[in-house]
Amino acid sequence: MAGFAIRRSFAGHPNPSAKADHAPRLKPDPPVGAGHNHAPASASATPPVPRARRPTHCFQVGTLAARLRAALRAWFDAGATTTPLILLRDEDHGAPLIDACARFGRGLPAHVIPLAANAISQVGSEIPAAAPALGAAGLRLLGRPRHDLTGLTATLDLLATIRAGTGHPQGAVALIETDDPNTLKAALWHKPRPARPARSGFLLPSDKRGLLVAATAEMIRTAPAPARTIPLPQGAPLGAVVLDTEACTLCMVCTGVCPTGALMDNPGAPMLRFPEDACVQCGLCAATRPETAITLVPQIDPPALHAPKRILKEEPPFACTGCGKPFGTLSGICRIWAKLTDHLMSSGPDGKHRLGLLTKCEDGRVEAVVNEGFDPHDSGVRHTHPEDGYRN
Ligand code: SF4
Repeated sequence: MAGFAIRRSFAGHPNPSAKADHAPRLKPDPPVGAGHNHAPASASATPPVPRARRPTHCFQVGTLAARLRAALRAWFDAGATTTPLILLRDEDHGAPLIDACARFGRGLPAHVIPLAANAISQVGSEIPAAAPALGAAGLRLLGRPRHDLTGLTATLDLLATIRAGTGHPQGAVALIETDDPNTLKAALWHKPRPARPARSGFLLPSDKRGLLVAATAEMIRTAPAPARTIPLPQGAPLGAVVLDTEACTLCMVCTGVCPTGALMDNPGAPMLRFPEDACVQCGLCAATRPETAITLVPQIDPPALHAPKRILKEEPPFACTGCGKPFGTLSGICRIWAKLTDHLMSSGPDGKHRLGLLTKCEDGRVEAVVNEGFDPHDSGVRHTHPEDGYRN
């Protein structure tokens, strides 16, 4: 039924004499732009009637999460003894389908709570993770057939991995791709489960990341089996970084590129710290790190999610050989020394002296050059270039 929309007259004003279980009559979508720029010439005398503005809901994960929590709270406060199923749909596609489901045949199952999102393709793993944690039996996402839902499918696969790793039953969260009300109805009708005696009441953070971490932590807390480290596929937004402490010189380039502040320095000492719950596994640190000392490990490590900042590496500061002021680290200075030993600046009669400047702080270097009267840039060695001859 590609490209069809439910007739508004049918969905909005049902005929009382309509037979039960009749599928709604459908008609093709109007061509794109009909009634606007592509109106036929004969209709040009009549000014086009602008379409009514469709209601738009800016996708705010905090708002959606609060509505989810309010719906579930109202459900249980009303004395329900079964767990509801959340049906998340987008405004344009889902509303007419649910309308048709509700009006014909057996109607919409009583345990289904529809919730609107701006577009379900914008939904990340946080809302599907939070719904069962807050007491819902599960969550269904109503998608449009023949639309690209690759991202959403990957999100649901990730959630299935987390639920499997924590021992929760599979199938709680699923995608329903249909534009047929009967198919939707068939996918929603099942025997509702009895309500759990204890439901999670965790405070919902209003940001995507915070909500995902809180819902994951709740899944771990209520895991049927003791929670353990759960390996996740590459690209998952949770995980750790492993630092090769031999290769790392604490240059701190990674702290400058990390967009979430997961890699942090310590203003008081050469130190690299890492709170695992902040890492989104973007890979910028691994790509930027000069010594390629960082490896990404997508995973959920339950203790690490709540651990304070771990120290990945620390070193005592190196003291300037001139004034004793702490600056840099021994490993960093040794690395630069090794790289410059065969460099032009290390050759000539003052080569060793010039290399020695590496062990001084910025003030100590200036002082040494001025007081000792040598040019730190002139090694006195002349080289011959094969193409343009002698060159200074
Ligand atoms: S992977 Fe991204 S978020 Fe994680 S520590 Fe590296 S730069 Fe920061």
